[in-house]
Amino acid sequence: MAYQSLYRRYRPGSFADVVGQGPVIRTLTNAITEDRLHHAYLFTGPRGTGKTSIARILAKAVNCTEGPTPAPCGVCESCTTITSGTSLDVIELDMASHGGVDDARDLRERAQFAPTTGRRKVYILDEVHMASTAAFNALLKLIEEPPGHVMFAMATTDPQKVLPTILSRVQRLDLRRVDAEDVAAHVVRIVTAEGSTIEEVAVDAVVRAGDGSVRDTLSILEQVLAFAGGGVTAEHVAQVLGTTPSATITDVVDRLVTGDLAGLLATVARLVDEGHDLRRFTLDLVSRLRDLLVLQAAPEHPELVDATREQRDRLVEQAGRLPREQVLSALETLSGTVVEQRLGTPRLPLELALARLTLPRSTVAGRRAGGRACTPRRPTRAHRAPTPAPAPAPRPRRRGDRVHHDGA
Ligand SMILES: [Zn+2]
Repeated sequence: MAYQSLYRRYRPGSFADVVGQGPVIRTLTNAITEDRLHHAYLFTGPRGTGKTSIARILAKAVNCTEGPTPAPCGVCESCTTITSGTSLDVIELDMASHGGVDDARDLRERAQFAPTTGRRKVYILDEVHMASTAAFNALLKLIEEPPGHVMFAMATTDPQKVLPTILSRVQRLDLRRVDAEDVAAHVVRIVTAEGSTIEEVAVDAVVRAGDGSVRDTLSILEQVLAFAGGGVTAEHVAQVLGTTPSATITDVVDRLVTGDLAGLLATVARLVDEGHDLRRFTLDLVSRLRDLLVLQAAPEHPELVDATREQRDRLVEQAGRLPREQVLSALETLSGTVVEQRLGTPRLPLELALARLTLPRSTVAGRRAGGRACTPRRPTRAHRAPTPAPAPAPRPRRRGDRVHHDGA
């Protein structure tokens, strides 16, 4: 049998199995029980939250030989063909690729024919916001007043782009980002069903990386399971997700303290060579600085930092060596870098930030006698990097002063 992804294998087969969408499920279940199903639904919500899964279950619910029922049997011909995607009465169309006016006209014509085996023909239109305006217009009347045997279950991640004329003709059900706790429970269930184990911290890391999308979470879990080959640890997850090795972050923080810009730039270059994502690296560095700040502020509460005991001991040691105001200023600067990196290339903003952070305080120690005129006295290539940074200042005056101000 062909390999099936975890997401497909553990796709919910009934409303009860859908993860974290209680209100939508309740609405549909009630509508089926009370026999007041709408003829056109629009499911909206972020990717991987269950829109098409729910649409398929809805198709089963109306076509099951035991139905219409909110709990389709899952074994009748109708249920099994819908699950396997071979039902002639459930037509799934991705509007990103079938959203032209000809596709819409074709759909409109075929919709007139009665269903083959089930009660109703269910059109599942995915990414419906991608359909062209002409296609929408061709479907308007059908969606408004379809023949009794036709039902629409549309899905979109972007309801703002669906024409108002369509929105006014459908019943809209908004799916939400799935709660971390619901996803975590789902992850544990699946790992157990797969005959494996997973550390609690590893579950957290997988769920955090999946960011509320069941599909993304399971795709990460799948990679992690394949990589770990057995019990999944937090370390496995870090490696699969490409998070920066802890030792590298420790080394970078040390270099920030000593003002070793050349070493920092070399580290950045190495990370790029090794294929690391610098945005990820910056986030990891920010997260480490945050941990150090917490340990400095509340040394008696090390549990506020999410780390293994061994790792925490190392952090406590590092936190003890750093001036708090330097940690604070690094956090502030790098948080800004994270934002800049979203807007463009990740490398330059990072290098500029590192240059700025190594400028005034760290080098001042041995050179204070030399006056305040900022340390970059030997304009090495590395030191020249920060000079473009003050550019946003409106009226450049004395170069030395500006650099100093900017770095502070
Ligand atoms: Zn059935």
